[in-house]
Amino acid sequence: MKTKSERIIIFDTTLRDGEQCPGATLNIDEKLTIAKQLARLGVDVIEAGFAFASPGDFEAVNKIAQTVGTENGPIICSLARARQDDIKAAAEAIKPAAKGRIHTFIATSDIHLKYKLKRTRQEVLAIAQEMVAYAKQFTNDVEFSPEDAGRSDPEFLYEVLERAIAAGATTVNIPDTVGYTTPSEFGALIKGIKENVPNIDKAIISVHGHNDLGMAVANFLEAVKNGARQLECTINGIGERAGNAALEELVMALYVRRQYFNPFLGRPVDSEEPLTNIDTKQIYRTSRLVSNLTGMLVQPNKAIVGANAFAHESGIHQDGVLKNKLTYEIMDARLIGLTENQIVLGKHSGRNAFRTRLRELGYELTETELNQAFVRFKEIADKKKEITDWDLQAIVNDEIQQAPDLFKLELVQVSCGSNAKPTATVTLCTPEGEELMDAAIGTGPVDAVYKAINRVVNVPNQLIEFSVQSVTAGIDAIGEVTIRLKYEDRVFSGHAANTDIIVASAQAYVNALNRLYAWLQNQSKQEQVTA
Ligand SMILES: [Zn+2]
Repeated sequence: MKTKSERIIIFDTTLRDGEQCPGATLNIDEKLTIAKQLARLGVDVIEAGFAFASPGDFEAVNKIAQTVGTENGPIICSLARARQDDIKAAAEAIKPAAKGRIHTFIATSDIHLKYKLKRTRQEVLAIAQEMVAYAKQFTNDVEFSPEDAGRSDPEFLYEVLERAIAAGATTVNIPDTVGYTTPSEFGALIKGIKENVPNIDKAIISVHGHNDLGMAVANFLEAVKNGARQLECTINGIGERAGNAALEELVMALYVRRQYFNPFLGRPVDSEEPLTNIDTKQIYRTSRLVSNLTGMLVQPNKAIVGANAFAHESGIHQDGVLKNKLTYEIMDARLIGLTENQIVLGKHSGRNAFRTRLRELGYELTETELNQAFVRFKEIADKKKEITDWDLQAIVNDEIQQAPDLFKLELVQVSCGSNAKPTATVTLCTPEGEELMDAAIGTGPVDAVYKAINRVVNVPNQLIEFSVQSVTAGIDAIGEVTIRLKYEDRVFSGHAANTDIIVASAQAYVNALNRLYAWLQNQSKQEQVTA
């Protein structure tokens, strides 16, 4: 009989560590949308946030616990520092989940002890033990992390882990917080823990790591070979600084090279039993969703989910692939859910066909959402003959998962050309319901549109990123625009899709401004409360 620990547990921290990177800030609805998709993807644990950090964070974790933390759903986890108030907030937030986890941590490296915590090793030992025991009062499922383990004295690390496990930690997570360790060092660290922590068989060894030197995934795979059974990762590898280990890379490495990894998990070399619970066919869609909602674009050469990951440009490669895919391809694009770009719907498709295809793609929309998306679909089908699955996904992501509709874009009109001054006229409906029109001249049509919008919205901001991508090939393709703008030291992103890239640009900008505006309103509310 196979034991459960032979599978690799996928712990997704896109909504906690991933969301910490500048500009990736998500609102509660967006977090919920991502959490639902993560459940569809089949992750075992969702780290939904850091409940104590703010009321918004608490609410997000709590809502995800309520909606996604069902009996058959993933474990819902909240991070908490090793402090009673932190742990209590985490416990409250995850309460509605059928399976809830508290993840508490304290630093163990001398550099953190001395400069950050100002505590002795003995004090840290006692705190770790006490706080794990405290968390255990609320749930059986307690994870403990010695922060900066990668730079901690191994002997001290063994002692802390032993105490944490004795106090009830069922998972011990080893973070390479600063992304400093090399694969062989990280493997040796895990091996050392397995050999020197006397009660280690009572807990699952987990790993967490950052990609500062581009080694996070390699470190994790080496950790698996040495006994780690839980991997903490994020979609598209987003996260602090250079990001976290990328979920899609870990999962596909464990899939494509399963014969290599099988023996380390005590399986026969040729075992076909999956190493993770992930439904790989959901990978591509999850990647797109996270990229759209966070505004963190995926580089074209990114492993697994980049636009070029399955494209063969060179003549020699194309010839080989046409003769037999295996000549240059180590995996089939369909494995990650990249289907042949089939034409499914057109102008004359009805609501039912639309709804059915969306269901097949895994979208469950409410009646209102479906109506909104259907209106958009009809608009686009008028301009574009053939609507593919990718177009449908762009429409739904765009229409349903959006920032609060404070300012509404009513009209965009531009005039430009080789001998004309780019001029734009826009009409926006304000949050108060007033229609305002303005016009501006710019260096190009998009610049003119942005200047005109700024004259109406009147919130100082700086555009720091603008990118256009086409969803499908062809002259009538849908263009997706992603932008990021800066207000003081905060970054807000906006995303929109349309067959007209000027309209998409305007809408993406309004979406980002709406986020900024919502944030400003929230700030002033908080000031009123504290004043
Ligand atoms: Zn981290």
